[in-house]
Amino acid sequence: MGLFKIYPEPKEGQKIEMKKGKLWVPDKPIIPVIYGDGSGPDCSKNGITVLDAAVKKAYGGRKKIVWFPVEAGQEAFNKRGEWMPTDTTTAIKHYLVSIKGPLETPVGGGHRSLNVALRQECDLYCCVRPVQWFEGVPNPVKEPEKLDVVVFRENTEDVYAGIEWKQGTPEAQKMIAFLATQMGKKVRADSGIGVKPMSATGSKRLIRAAIKYAIANKRRSVTMMHKGNIMKFTEGAFREWGYEVAKEFGDQVVTEQEIAEKFGGQKPEGKVLVNDRIADSMFQQILLRPGEYDVIATPNLNGDYISDAAAAQVGGLGIAPGGNINYDTGLAVFEATHGTAPKYAGQDKVNPGSFILSGVMMLEYLGWKEAAALVNRGFAGAIKAKRVTYDFARQMEGAEEVKSSEFAQEIIKHM
Ligand code: NAP
Repeated sequence: MGLFKIYPEPKEGQKIEMKKGKLWVPDKPIIPVIYGDGSGPDCSKNGITVLDAAVKKAYGGRKKIVWFPVEAGQEAFNKRGEWMPTDTTTAIKHYLVSIKGPLETPVGGGHRSLNVALRQECDLYCCVRPVQWFEGVPNPVKEPEKLDVVVFRENTEDVYAGIEWKQGTPEAQKMIAFLATQMGKKVRADSGIGVKPMSATGSKRLIRAAIKYAIANKRRSVTMMHKGNIMKFTEGAFREWGYEVAKEFGDQVVTEQEIAEKFGGQKPEGKVLVNDRIADSMFQQILLRPGEYDVIATPNLNGDYISDAAAAQVGGLGIAPGGNINYDTGLAVFEATHGTAPKYAGQDKVNPGSFILSGVMMLEYLGWKEAAALVNRGFAGAIKAKRVTYDFARQMEGAEEVKSSEFAQEIIKHM
């Protein structure tokens, strides 16, 4: 019996593995890809063309990604009557590293978000969202180049845990009665109830990953963004646990208190500063003092907001990349962060940038830094040349609108 019921086994390539806590990447890794719904395939197919070209240029045929298309979303439902076939999650877990386009999620009913399901099923506890400006990208601020941050958002807990009860249901009534009789807390009788669990385990592993990333990538600081002044035992605890984790890194990190007490107010060279900011002030800070922030580690809901706000600040919401990563198991799913933009489906029109830059994150994760750098260079070159998809063209003076596939070729030309 093979591993899959519905997919043929890939004919070439090898699986990526975790060996002694490190990712081991063969020269021809098998990487599952979910093309996505709506206009998703325009992003992913053109994205793959770009990533393949970069790998070829960087390694001249010595390395190559063996793409393994797997189904999810509408495509899977139409063909097989299920939104996320078991074989798809099996492939994602077995091959460790994968990439996906956007998937359709109906609002207020229907099936639950496939993205959230995948993150929980694979315990992908870090949602990593780098935000940087590419010269020429239209944006709403004066100095977009000053913002260059990487958000580490906790991906499995907080109000996203899905523990909530609708107003008026017996469960909500029961919780309200329990809070009144057992816990001495009064809640209005006509309330819906949600629970916000945040654990030491979940918070610490996220913050640990952010600090490790900062050290490995020579970043200057890790800022814990929290609302601990109000939610003391969840977000406040997140901050406390973070400073505990920081101690594990010895003299590789330094806190603001240590800088004041031991280093005369000057951050010593080569150490990563670990500090914290209240969530609401963080939104002002990234606008007013963007250059002071670098890696941001934060619980789920804050992370959702700050990663989109930061991306919007550099005009990059439509091209913002993302990765969902479990650094312990090595399992990672990289993904375009926008939705399926269904009205443009099949028109070869949408911007494939988010998928492509997620591919850059994936190449960096594989350690294929040369190929990642080529894609970045090509992307920046295509934007400078002002041959861009409709979304950028309508905001850039003197730009020529090109199709998704032509934009991909433009990127390849500028590598
Ligand atoms: P959306 O698909 O992101 O589209 C909203 C608008 O954003 C589009 O109409 C378009 O703007 C612009 N846009 C999105 N992707 C673009 C691209 N690649 N290039 C250029 N412009 C792009 O958001 P939505 O309409 O709220 O959601 C549609 C479906 O996607 C829903 O089922 C939702 O659940 C799902 N979704 C999936 C994911 C995911 O899988 N990660 C994430 C978010 C949403 P203009 O109209 O101005 O051209």
